[in-house]
Amino acid sequence: MIDCRIPFNKPFLAGKETDYIRQAVESGKISGNGAFTQKCQRWLEQHYGFKKTLLTTSCTDALEMAAILSDVGPGDEVIVPAFTFVSSALAFVRQGAKIVFADSRPNHPNLDLDRVEALITSRTKVLVVVHYAGVACDMDRALALAQKHNLVVVEDAAQAIDATFQGRPLGGIGHLGCFSFHETKNIISGEGGALAVNDDRFVRRSEIIWEKGTNRAEFFRGEVNKYGWVDTGSSFLPSEIIAAFLYAQLEQLDAIQAKRKTLWNAYAQELSSLAAQGRISLPDIPAYASNNAHMFSIVCGSLQERTALIDHLKQNGILAVFHYLPLHKSPFYAPKHDGRELPHADRFADCLLRLPMYFDLTTEQVAAICAAIWQFFMRRG
Ligand SMILES: *Cc1c(COP(=O)(O)O)cnc(C)c1O
Repeated sequence: MIDCRIPFNKPFLAGKETDYIRQAVESGKISGNGAFTQKCQRWLEQHYGFKKTLLTTSCTDALEMAAILSDVGPGDEVIVPAFTFVSSALAFVRQGAKIVFADSRPNHPNLDLDRVEALITSRTKVLVVVHYAGVACDMDRALALAQKHNLVVVEDAAQAIDATFQGRPLGGIGHLGCFSFHETKNIISGEGGALAVNDDRFVRRSEIIWEKGTNRAEFFRGEVNKYGWVDTGSSFLPSEIIAAFLYAQLEQLDAIQAKRKTLWNAYAQELSSLAAQGRISLPDIPAYASNNAHMFSIVCGSLQERTALIDHLKQNGILAVFHYLPLHKSPFYAPKHDGRELPHADRFADCLLRLPMYFDLTTEQVAAICAAIWQFFMRRG
């Protein structure tokens, strides 16, 4: 086993994380929905215009809240891209819904909204859009389909903090938006997430589901004089220790994003002529989408070529990794899938390679990674 000098990801401190955690502990309250939770929620609402934001313990939990709020159950269908993380589908499977997997665009892992309408039936209730690598899906198309067919649009914006569609912040466009602060994302708290509630009809219920089906939050605001069990729900809220860590990161968002964009642009520049020669393809970002530099990935010509490149990079002390095994071929869901082929999702599963990307990476390291990639393709002739 080769010890990699350049890992794929590395968690980082933005500045005041440990100070804020100490403050939370010294305040005498470290359970959920305290001062730091409210600071984070207000920060997200003010920066991105979300109607209501609730911190969660993960994006998976935010997606589970979205599944409960959209009221799906047995007999209902939910459209989800096949090339995504398990949680985008799992949250709805737990409610008993059937997943109808959609293919990716030919030149980007995002779902192909031109071909979604053919998947809609009278039982379809939810459309899940995943903004892969923080690159927006065409939200005008998604919302038009939702309006026509009366669907709830859930944005899996796990990778999409600070990214936009035509200037509008992702996660704030669909009815519900789900974010992740897992240590592999742009803004981190170890594990963590948030639900953005953008539709009035979900606002009150979201807070109840968040607090184990009780109206405890209303009680603490003095809106009711006792609280009790009023709905379904779970314990979706994180502790103040997590929120304190997260707030320190949110405060430094501009610096974190600026650094990531510098790294992303360095990759794009170093690899552009390799792409121009047709040896690899680089991320295709449509004009309607911004770039939040969540990920830098390349697409190789074949699975064999990608495997050889991963090995070559590993020998140079660089850890590059492939991404999702498409969910329609997963051991859990393949027996339930309707058998449709999803060739673009399959190709990204076989050929997409993610390069190291984290705050502490340097442009010199990016240059070294790109030099190793060039060497690989020059040797292949
Ligand atoms: C990371 C990720 C998730 C899961 O986020 P957690 O916070 O780990 O639950 C869900 N969907 C996508 C697209 C992701 O990238």
